[in-house]
Amino acid sequence: MALQAPEGTKDLLPDEAKFWNTFKQTAADVFGRYGYLPIETPMFEQTELFVRGIGEATDVVSKEMFQAISGENMKKLLAGESIKSKSRLSLRPEGTAGVVRAVVQHDLVPQGAAPVKLMYAGPMFRAERPQKGRYRQFNQVGVECLGAEAPTTDAEVIIMLMRFFTAIGIPAQSMRLLVNSMGCEKCRPAYRELVRAYMEDRRADLCDECMHRAEINPLRAFDCKNPTCSAVMDGAPKITDYLCDDCKEHYSAVKSYLDAASIDYVEDARLVRGLDYYTRTVFEVQVVDGLGSQNAIGGGGRYDKLAEEVGGRPTSGLGFALGYERCVLALQAAGVEFAPAARCDFFLACVDETTRQTAFGLLQMARDAGFIGEMDHQSRSLKSQFKLADKLGARMVVILGPDELAEGKIKVRNMATRREALVDLETAKGVLARFGGQPYGDQSALRLEEVFPVEE
Ligand code: AMP
Repeated sequence: MALQAPEGTKDLLPDEAKFWNTFKQTAADVFGRYGYLPIETPMFEQTELFVRGIGEATDVVSKEMFQAISGENMKKLLAGESIKSKSRLSLRPEGTAGVVRAVVQHDLVPQGAAPVKLMYAGPMFRAERPQKGRYRQFNQVGVECLGAEAPTTDAEVIIMLMRFFTAIGIPAQSMRLLVNSMGCEKCRPAYRELVRAYMEDRRADLCDECMHRAEINPLRAFDCKNPTCSAVMDGAPKITDYLCDDCKEHYSAVKSYLDAASIDYVEDARLVRGLDYYTRTVFEVQVVDGLGSQNAIGGGGRYDKLAEEVGGRPTSGLGFALGYERCVLALQAAGVEFAPAARCDFFLACVDETTRQTAFGLLQMARDAGFIGEMDHQSRSLKSQFKLADKLGARMVVILGPDELAEGKIKVRNMATRREALVDLETAKGVLARFGGQPYGDQSALRLEEVFPVEE
């Protein structure tokens, strides 16, 4: 059997790959208005970064990381030898830890400096059980804002996320924004103990996994999908009742800025998110219909301790990541149509081999003038060339026949109206030559009809 892409991975074929490019560009346009600049960090990092940054007890680190070991080191490990800690590498399961590591390493937020605003887009890797909307390699777009403590930045980041979803076409009514505050190192430890005690008292009703979580990080139990556990955790103490005064004030300011910006949100005291580094504001955007259990299209929050965790000076920060593949599913569920990747302005058909040279020259001139065109490269029959032109969606077919060419003419057919006309080759070339330096990325300033006039 022919080899297949690995389980849990997905090829982005041209239509989707093109939409991924549009998606990234829209993100750069939206986030750019808020001052975000791109950053690229490696796809693998020292495992220790994720262990320290995300937390050893999280599912992401304890179960889902792909290790990246060189062949040589793998041999050593198999032989029972140890390898250097810096050779223990993992594929990145998320983007925040790497970006914060880069900010610390390059001292991008010197003391007292304005916040640094960074965005990234690229693949993440998690060895999860694949299902609809859950892959082992998936694409995220994310932002990180380092050196910002004020609640205006939390609100700004959330507004920006909602603006992005709207910009790519997810209807407002199919999204739900959840917000919560997870407190800080002053108020969370006491709250965590309360949850632990609450869980201990209900040990009989909770699954083994939750009781294991109760020992390491009881807040994880809020994420358990088991309905009995979920019902038990519904009755657990709510973090928002135990926030310290500073956290309470910060949270209520964030909400007031969201209100002022007319952003709809639901407060969800159970929203704890999967990673350990969050403090204070957390948020998640879910799609209401069509995505089943994997309905979170994006989420994030504040992580005021993360920079210290990876060895930097205290630097508050916040950000979010959103999942490309889930956004595509959300758009499909909402019935949004994708534009096909390929556009074809014209096809040059050769009646026989003697016209190929002229066709080839004309094709290059038309491309240099900004048109997207194609010709046959396999000496197909004229009929097959027309079929190919149809398949490519060519708006016009230019037919080069030896008799017409002898008189300096080419035949042009408008594929929509089926009208044909004989056009003077030198005139068409003259028009194209005048527009020869067309900049890439722009539509041609010239209309195809001006080069090959068919309609009178
Ligand atoms: P997280 O880093 O877990 O907060 O995830 C941020 C976003 O990435 C989620 O809201 C999803 O849209 C997306 N995401 C996370 N894990 C996966 C996965 N395994 N497959 C596809 N998308 C994912």
